[in-house]
Parts: sequence; structure tokens; C-alpha cells
Amino acid sequence: MNAIDASTDGEPNADASALILGAMLDNDHPLKRGVADWARENLTDDTLVERDHSCTFWHEGFKRIADRGLLGILADPAYGGQGRSLTEAVLELEGLGLGCRDDGLVFAATSTVLTFGLALERFGSDAQRNEWLPKIISGDAVGSFSMTEPESGSDAFSLTTTALKTEDGSYVLNGEKAWVTMAPVADVFMVFATTNPDLGRWGVTAFLIPADTPGLIVGNNQPKMGMRTTPFSSITFENCTVPASALMGAEGSGASIFSSSMEAERGFLLVGSVGALERVMNDSVDYARTREQFGQPIGSFQGVSHQIAEIKLAHESARLLMYKAAALQQRGESSMMAAALSKLAGSEGALAGALAAVEVHGARGYVSEYGVERDLRNLSGGVIYGGASGIQKNIIARLLGLPA
Ligand SMILES: Cc1cc2nc3c(=O)[nH]c(=O)nc-3n(C[C@H](O)[C@H](O)[C@H](O)COP(=O)(O)OP(=O)(O)OC[C@H]3O[C@@H](n4cnc5c(N)ncnc54)[C@H](O)[C@@H]3O)c2cc1C
Repeated sequence: MNAIDASTDGEPNADASALILGAMLDNDHPLKRGVADWARENLTDDTLVERDHSCTFWHEGFKRIADRGLLGILADPAYGGQGRSLTEAVLELEGLGLGCRDDGLVFAATSTVLTFGLALERFGSDAQRNEWLPKIISGDAVGSFSMTEPESGSDAFSLTTTALKTEDGSYVLNGEKAWVTMAPVADVFMVFATTNPDLGRWGVTAFLIPADTPGLIVGNNQPKMGMRTTPFSSITFENCTVPASALMGAEGSGASIFSSSMEAERGFLLVGSVGALERVMNDSVDYARTREQFGQPIGSFQGVSHQIAEIKLAHESARLLMYKAAALQQRGESSMMAAALSKLAGSEGALAGALAAVEVHGARGYVSEYGVERDLRNLSGGVIYGGASGIQKNIIARLLGLPA
């Protein structure tokens, strides 16, 4: 049982309540600051600009994050995890985004913890958890979560990859998955396919498939606008045969596994970007205090200072909504509204804030050397992955009682 499920008696204990309140009131919370300081010291290297240009993943940095315990922060200690609460995890991962300038490396880590790791621990069989979780947590293996297809994005359950059962009980997969984070370096894939195309979403089934399985073909790392240091690619299945033991849950339970994973993803996948947004804000304040034009710091011009005030508002809104989603999930309550609001505020706020930072920095914001433009490129993807903004607004509208 992982840390989210472990503390769900309806009411959090006094320690959990104090932590949540402390996180809300203290933007410089020691858990966040501790990881941010560690990341500045251990995840800063002079190859970032080159790695960003060449779309290169930093294995050594990923391993350092694992060694710090962050890849297993939520996982049960039985698998080598830290067994920490969701609120603690959010604070520490936010600190990672704040302290580490390689947003792609942070995205690789948060995807591992919040998407792949959580789903494996919640829905994997004992054998799957025992085989893979310790290696994922230690950074010795990489996992990828693969739902999207070229023709099914927001409409995820219209997927067409098939997994047809054979007489001996094994399954044969055929189809293509798109935009799979970490695929080029993955050792194992969580894959959603239909075991019965006639059943629509009720035919969707999850599988756990090692990357070296014959018939599973991983595409080349695809260059993209941002998060270029997180590799991603398509994966194709050509008569890829897997045993029944590759099933995660029962046949047809994939839609509920996916939906449950999405609630965690919506609530917290932007945690690294929220940390990065604070860094973007701090950099903008420093720059606006020191850069002078017309004989005075540009921060004394209202046009500039108000832009930075807007970044502050975006950051504060995003982090508070994320803590609310964490608190609700920790209490075992539905966090659908909070998670959708958190995703929307985190992604849209980070994008708007990073764009404002480019403007505040003038030409220095636009050239590669200073990293401000890199943050804008990196933070723009959040409005697409983990459910695009339009989908989050649909969820919010539906929960408000508006007709679909
Ligand atoms: C950096 C990155 C990493 C990713 N990693 C993964 C991964 O690891 N695994 C994985 O499975 N997928 C991954 N994805 C894919 C991602 O989940 C999809 O891109 C996303 O779900 C949107 O699907 P789409 O790109 O097909 O866009 P579409 O679904 O075609 O949407 C295009 C536009 O139409 C809007 N739209 C669509 N339907 C509606 C509607 N009903 N109402 C209102 N607006 C709507 C959307 O908001 C969007 O603006 C990743 C994507 C990116 C960019």
C-alpha cells in the first residue's frame, strides 16, 4: 500500500494537518528548501545548454535524484521507498523544480514518481511490483506510461492498439503509441490496449511489458520544443506476444486504472513546473532590481513590477491549489475539482509566468545563454500533457453542473 492510500481514514492526523497548514503558510518550507538547496548543489552542471540543444537525457543526474530518495518518495519502504505522505512529496518535488534548472530532468523524475510509479504500486501484481519497483526507485531501471496514440489523445479511450488473447492465454499486441515520455531510455512500459474493440472503454486493459520483448519497437528520440532533456518517442507493437502475467489488473480494468492515474497526474504532475515558476520569479526580481535604464532599476517601472506581481499571483495560486489537491487525496476524499484546478493553474500559470520573465529580461530573455527562453519552452508543454487545458476546463464545468 503506498502513502496516498495509507492515510485515508477520512480525517488526517494532527501531524498531517499541521504539515498541510505549514506548507500553505510557509512558502519557504524546510522540506522544499532542503531539496532545492540540495538540487542547486548536486544537479547544476555546465552541460545543460548543450544537453538542451542535443536533446540529451542526463542519466547521472537522474541517478543522483534516485540516490536522494526522491524517485521512491511515495513508495512503500518494503520496495525501498520512503513511504512519505503526499504533502511531503509535493513539497520536496516542488523543491526539486525550484533548485534544478534542468526542467526536463525534473519532469523525468516527477513522471516516474507520479505517473508510472504510483500506478505500478497501486495496480501491479505482487510479482510485477517485486520485480520492478525496487529498480525504478533506485534509478537502475526506467519506466514509461503509454496511453496516447497518433489518433487518440484527449479522447484517450478511443485507442486502437489491440491485445488479443490467444488459446494458450497469452496476448498479442499490435498498434502504435505516441509521445511516450522516457520511451527511448525505458526498461519497462505500462501499456494500455484493447482486449475487445467492441467494448469501447470497457475493453481497455493495462499491461506491463519489458522493453526487450520481441515485437516491441521503440522509436527514435523525437526533438521537441521544450523538455528536450526528457527523451520521448513513439513505440510500436508488431505481433508482440506477452504472457498473461503481463496483465495489470483484470481484462477491461484499464480505463479505471488510467482514470485513477490521471487524478494523481492532474493534481501533481505540474509540481516541478510550480517550483520552476518560483525560480523564474526570483530571477526576474533579481534582474529587475539590478538592470538599469533611464537611470533607474527597471523594477521601478510599474509596467515591469506589475508583470512580476502577476508571476507571484500565478505561483501562489498554483501551489495552494496543488496543496489542496494533496490534502484531499491524503484524506481519501475526491479531489477531481481540485486536481483539475491544480493542473490548470500550474500549467497556465507557469506558461504565462515564463513568458512574462522573457519580456522582463529583454534580449537576455530571448537568447539561449541565460536560460530564460529555455524555461518558456519547457513550461509551455504543461498545457498539453497530462490532459490538455481544454479537458481540464471540461471537467471543471461538468463538476459545476454544466451540461456536457
Ligand atoms: C511533453 C509531452 C509528454 C507526453 N508524455 C506522454 C506520456 O508519457 N504518455 C502518454 O500516453 N502520452 C504522453 N503525452 C501525450 C499527451 O497526453 C497528449 O498530447 C494529450 O493528451 C493531448 O492529446 P493530443 O496531443 O492528441 O491533442 P488533441 O487531443 O488532438 O487536442 C488538441 C487540442 O484540442 C483540444 N480539445 C480536444 N478535445 C477537446 C474537448 N472535448 N473539449 C475542449 N477542447 C478539446 C485540446 O485541449 C487541445 O488544445 C505527452 C505529450 C507531451 C507534449
